[in-house]
Amino acid sequence: MGLHSHDEVVLLLGAPGAGKGTQARFLAQTFGIPHVASGDLLREHRARGTRLGQAAQTYMDRGDLVPDLLVVDMIVERLSQADAARGALLDGFPRTLTQAQALEDALRKRGGRVRVAIYVQVPTEVLVERLADRWLCKACQASYHARFNPPARPRVCDHCDGELYQRADDKREVVSKRVAVYLKETLPVVERYEALGKLCRIDGDKPIQTVREDLLEALDQTQQAVPA
Ligand code: AMP
Repeated sequence: MGLHSHDEVVLLLGAPGAGKGTQARFLAQTFGIPHVASGDLLREHRARGTRLGQAAQTYMDRGDLVPDLLVVDMIVERLSQADAARGALLDGFPRTLTQAQALEDALRKRGGRVRVAIYVQVPTEVLVERLADRWLCKACQASYHARFNPPARPRVCDHCDGELYQRADDKREVVSKRVAVYLKETLPVVERYEALGKLCRIDGDKPIQTVREDLLEALDQTQQAVPA
């Protein structure tokens, strides 16, 4: 099975801490398509000190969403790069109905579409616990958890030997805000894809390997069945 139809994107929806990033990295590698994570791209802009990075900073540190226009332009530009011609796996985008609409318009212009939106569901109390103990690789963004998914060596990435760090917005106060923003802004996006018959729900409150297998099975099943 593949995700290789021209310009078909797969969306990974889910609250912060649902495990989207961990699963997306694996799926993108498996299918040889780029993993496009809006949060990672924004953090790269911040690290480079671009205008977008500077504009995004206060929103991100507060746990608010960066304005739609800025994020949409960034993602549409990323999807126009050559490696995304066969499709992409979008992680953390769209987060609002406006973003979903803008994405669909941009894809339609190039003869593409959203193939499926996968919603990784995790109870709210589990999200906070996961994020508070989360460690990320500075180099490759791989994600670890002090108890559930620890690295082999403390603070060193298993994949690339990069240094692990904790995100400033994974602090407990900011996490609650991010989850609240998600429920308000992003649940309508979930409902949109449900109404379009493109939503696939996955229980994310399971071990990483189990979620991975469930995702592969769901993608396999939706390969043929998803309406245009
Ligand atoms: P994430 O890494 O997905 O948890 O995103 C970290 C932060 O980046 C979020 O709390 C937002 O401030 C910002 N962000 C990421 N993706 C989006 C998006 N699609 N729309 C608006 N803001 C975003």
